[in-house]
Amino acid sequence: MIEGVQIALTRAVGRGLSCRCPRCGRGNIFARYLKPAASCTHCNEAYGKIRTDDIAPYFTILVVGHIIVPLVLLVEKLYAPPAWTHWSLWPPLTLLAVFIVLPRVKGAVMGWMWWLGIRGDEQH
Ligand SMILES: [Zn+2]
Repeated sequence: MIEGVQIALTRAVGRGLSCRCPRCGRGNIFARYLKPAASCTHCNEAYGKIRTDDIAPYFTILVVGHIIVPLVLLVEKLYAPPAWTHWSLWPPLTLLAVFIVLPRVKGAVMGWMWWLGIRGDEQH
């Protein structure tokens, strides 16, 4: 956590979840779709060095999987549509969900890492 700035973990993660700066909640945390901004456009907090690596895709798979798989099972149980319907519906819906969820999860992880004061390149 940055000295002089006391923000609750839930607030920092929530701001990251909305792709906003965990510190001020106003600036964007991303310069492009998944590329972290070098610094916040509002408070100038540095984010360019935070590396989330693979944790954001892992959490995204967890979240999207828990949304899509029950829907697939529910549709199959209720309507039993032909296989081509499943193949036409679920892959694009899954991709759409991933494109929506991934930056939010990455922002939340960045908010969490920022709150902890880690960058992801620490040596053990
Ligand atoms: Zn900011």
